[in-house]
Amino acid sequence: MTNFDETRSRFQIPDGVIYLDGNSLGPLPRGVQARAAEVMQHDWGTQLITAWNKAGWMDLPRRVGDRVGGLIGAPAGSVVMGDTLSVKVFQALSAALKLSGDRKVILSDTGNFPSDLYMAQGLIAALDQGHQLRTVAPEAVTEALSEDVAVLMLTHVDYRTGRMHDMAALTQKAQALGIVVIWDLAHSAGAVPVDLTGAGPEFAVGCTYKYLNGGPGAPAFIYVRPDLQDTAFPVLSGWLGHEAPFAFDADYRPAAGIERMRCGTPPVIQMSVLDAALDAWDGVTIAEVRAQSIALSQRFIAAVEAACPDLTLVSPRDPLQRGSQVSFAFEHGYPAMQALIARGVIGDFRAPDIMRFGITPLYLSADDIDAAAAQLAAIVNDRLWDSDQYRARNAVT
Ligand SMILES: *Cc1c(COP(=O)(O)O)cnc(C)c1O
Repeated sequence: MTNFDETRSRFQIPDGVIYLDGNSLGPLPRGVQARAAEVMQHDWGTQLITAWNKAGWMDLPRRVGDRVGGLIGAPAGSVVMGDTLSVKVFQALSAALKLSGDRKVILSDTGNFPSDLYMAQGLIAALDQGHQLRTVAPEAVTEALSEDVAVLMLTHVDYRTGRMHDMAALTQKAQALGIVVIWDLAHSAGAVPVDLTGAGPEFAVGCTYKYLNGGPGAPAFIYVRPDLQDTAFPVLSGWLGHEAPFAFDADYRPAAGIERMRCGTPPVIQMSVLDAALDAWDGVTIAEVRAQSIALSQRFIAAVEAACPDLTLVSPRDPLQRGSQVSFAFEHGYPAMQALIARGVIGDFRAPDIMRFGITPLYLSADDIDAAAAQLAAIVNDRLWDSDQYRARNAVT
């Protein structure tokens, strides 16, 4: 059994802070700074270019990919790290369209993160073959699956509301209609149990700076179902996805396996930071984290609803349909969140009126939840948000 008091000590969280934004940027795990220093001072500083071999830098994207794979139900050798999530969305979508023949429709939902939709729009424009992006309400995706759809591209957990799709059911229904499936696990990896092998989508992608605590700009990941790894087309055909990068051939030949989804030189320092950050999961099962996340979320919802009648829950009430965040709509959500942050309770805000709270049991306790709900109630009920200093909008909300 995981001792969540002990896992909390694996993170460096400033005194007086209750951190409810690990769904957007995870906090700094202890041990990460020492690893970064070692990579810089020892590996880079003393081994110079020989560290690509001696320190195993070249294998990092695969090795770390296997560790991430372990948290999302993917077998060894099916996940590789690199680039940002937006780039991985582009890569997965290009490969998916290549697999899906003459169909022209990419189906997604209106709750998807804009960057995923933007990447689809850019790819459609670049291909210039009459593809079309169709978005429907999240609740309407099942009915919208049809035989004109080439690719179903969804984010498993909605970044604003926390609403979670039924990955297995949607994948199965889509594939029965000949649709290729991509899941974006940005708000799932490290947050909820994911079984890629069981659900069977062709592709999955995700980022690692949210619930996996890899730090700002941490590399993203891509999963390709093992039976497709030698046929999936790597449209971003960079040299490190080549069969023999150091042959320096003029012609591209994709590497066998997941390696072909690599592109260029990996960000070694940031990827080493992520590698060290994943140690925070040692001895922890995602099932225990999920159970604790549900308990803490229910506690938070009950406390906020009891004390703040002006806030409306916009996350699903049923925990089985919700990821690991709780969102409330409030007319004065932006200044209220700034007032909350000023008191050390850090969540965030998403336009037009949503206050988001990430629930991350590795470093959040029931006492934190109670204290955060009490602060929120004071701010809302005593109008402590009603001040010019909280209304000024920052660039990042
Ligand atoms: C966080 C997030 C992104 C961000 O993409 P980056 O390229 O890492 O900036 C993209 N898609 C989804 C669904 C996200 O939640």
